[in-house]
Amino acid sequence: MVRYLLLGLFLASACKKPLDLKKEEAAYDAYLEALPELRVVQKNAPVQLSIVYVENPRWPTLDVAARQRVYANVETLARRVYGYDLKMKEAKQQTITDLFATAGPRFAASPIRFPSEAFLVSWFAPNRDALVTETIAAALKKHSPEKLAEYLGKDTDPVAASRVFLQKLTAIYAETDSSGQPLLSTVNKQDEVWYSYGHWSTLLQGEKEFDFVLTNVGIIGADNGMPLYVVARGGVTSAFVENNAHRPYQGAGVLGMYPFLSDSPFFTAERGALTGAEKEEAIAWLWLHELGHLLLKKEENYTFGDSVHRAPPNLKYYEWVKTVRATKDHRSEKVGVMKKF
Ligand SMILES: [Zn+2]
Repeated sequence: MVRYLLLGLFLASACKKPLDLKKEEAAYDAYLEALPELRVVQKNAPVQLSIVYVENPRWPTLDVAARQRVYANVETLARRVYGYDLKMKEAKQQTITDLFATAGPRFAASPIRFPSEAFLVSWFAPNRDALVTETIAAALKKHSPEKLAEYLGKDTDPVAASRVFLQKLTAIYAETDSSGQPLLSTVNKQDEVWYSYGHWSTLLQGEKEFDFVLTNVGIIGADNGMPLYVVARGGVTSAFVENNAHRPYQGAGVLGMYPFLSDSPFFTAERGALTGAEKEEAIAWLWLHELGHLLLKKEENYTFGDSVHRAPPNLKYYEWVKTVRATKDHRSEKVGVMKKF
């Protein structure tokens, strides 16, 4: 998924690295440009997705039986809503530590390393709050006042929106895992890459074995180029699909389940208390939204409020499920098709 960046922010992060980020960006843009245009996946043959399940053992998780129920549910929904004969196969399980170790060379490989070098606004950056305000100001400029009010309530100016964003992200990172350690603090600074959109972007673009990563980690943080709904959720990207030159459907995706599985006070307040079955159903529907990107090549939709092509606007995932599962016509044919993810 292409995120549009701010040059000022690159330069700010370029100071601490010897990498010439302007040159890296040009090489990355040329690489994306040269990728073949996306083709809509045909419905006359079975679609097979190979999945790797990636776990942080100290975070809430879905066991094997629950994951199999989710895969079966997504298969059923993909047939009913999109008309695909879908088969999802979990081919491997790995820890998050091992996945990032395996993917290590991708973070050094130009041009796909660019997102991992340039997108993250680090939680530990000395000028973090100013950078967050700058990137949120750029995100808000792309939308009408009505759309901003719909997603952000009354806090629609960049300063107020950034304040709320940082409050939410602070609350999330302060949550503790089963060993009592906060999700992110100075003690485990090195884990920030696990939650970083840009690092997942690079990882997915270099992926050769799998079409989707399902993980109990969350993609949660500030980055240059957050869409409006990620700003509204305090930095939570539930899932996304990236360009991929190696996989059959021209893309690879990740679904980060932490915001669905966590029963922390923050997520319970924002999302509502959910039963195990409700969490599984919300994950399955969100996955179906992602398959609208991966298979149908549909762009992000902000218009059709009850269509599965519109991402959940906030963290009330199950409210979104109740809306989209009642929809008879998701208006897929009215949603634009992308040339690149
Ligand atoms: Zn989407």
